[in-house]
Amino acid sequence: MSLSEILRRELAGAPLGAARDDFEAALERALRGPPNRDATAFEAALAAMPVLPRLEAELDSPVVRIGTAHDLDADARETLHGALLALHPWRKGPFELLGVPIDSEWRSDLKWARVAASITPLAGRRVLDVGCGNGYYAWRMLGAGAGFVLGVDPAARCIAQFQAFKRQQPAAAVVLLPLGSEDLPAQSRCFDTVFSMGVIYHRRDPIGHLRELHGQLRPGGELVLETLFIDAAAGAVLAPGERYAKMRNVWSIPSCNTLLGWLHEAGFRDARIAHTSITTADEQRRTAWMRFESLADFLDPRNPSLTVEGHPAPRRALAVATA
Ligand code: SAH
Repeated sequence: MSLSEILRRELAGAPLGAARDDFEAALERALRGPPNRDATAFEAALAAMPVLPRLEAELDSPVVRIGTAHDLDADARETLHGALLALHPWRKGPFELLGVPIDSEWRSDLKWARVAASITPLAGRRVLDVGCGNGYYAWRMLGAGAGFVLGVDPAARCIAQFQAFKRQQPAAAVVLLPLGSEDLPAQSRCFDTVFSMGVIYHRRDPIGHLRELHGQLRPGGELVLETLFIDAAAGAVLAPGERYAKMRNVWSIPSCNTLLGWLHEAGFRDARIAHTSITTADEQRRTAWMRFESLADFLDPRNPSLTVEGHPAPRRALAVATA
């Protein structure tokens, strides 16, 4: 079955109530768009991976693990290792699939530990993760007891990496669709918790992004928003120009108080900053599964409190607010 067919089938079974028609229309629009130039390679990598029924899944510890080394012989594991590497770069993780450990660029478990300690517990909740990457957090949300998780991310590679795991657990209550936040139904209002982590500074209109997120929450639902921030007064925004830490698509990085103002402007109440941190090379680094440049290459070697462009080095804030 093609990846498109798998996505259609997964969405058809998703508990989204009356909003499902709108999500199906959004998916069809996305599938009509130009295919990713690596789509054939992604399908080939997935086809080379064995699918085994009834594997054990461990979703509530730092390494998201499906199956063990005992489920596969050494030759088959070598083939799987190659097929997973064909989906390089693995930015979010860590994962382990059938005994193959995937040491991703980000120790996403560290962010998840900060997030999980700061939010309304997910038990039984219907969750949307916008800009979900390869689904690492979506699995952890399920491991934390969420009733259903929908992840959306426009990057086809992320959807393919997710499918490497989801195909082993077809009944798991988690679905990832290739959508951007701008592709979501305007007012689905069907989620108890909406996450947007590491996305808002990639959007040209940050308050517009917050309005998109507001429209997905039921009244009283919780937004969990994670972003780069600058240590500055209310009203301050860093518009980094051409590049920030060598990233080309960073439009605006707010101060914490600016972010709280944006949340208010977009219709949220009770907004608070739950956590701030400085990103270190323990959390973001080059590995065998992400061979491109990473944080150490993005900072000024003479002054690591600055990026190579002379901007303040990455700090991250976690905001929580109510719709
Ligand atoms: N949420 C994850 C991933 C952050 S990386 C984390 O916190 O670690 C940023 C992600 O946003 C990428 O996977 C990128 O594909 C996705 N993205 C880019 N533009 C987007 C958009 N318009 N809507 C939703 N996601 C987007």
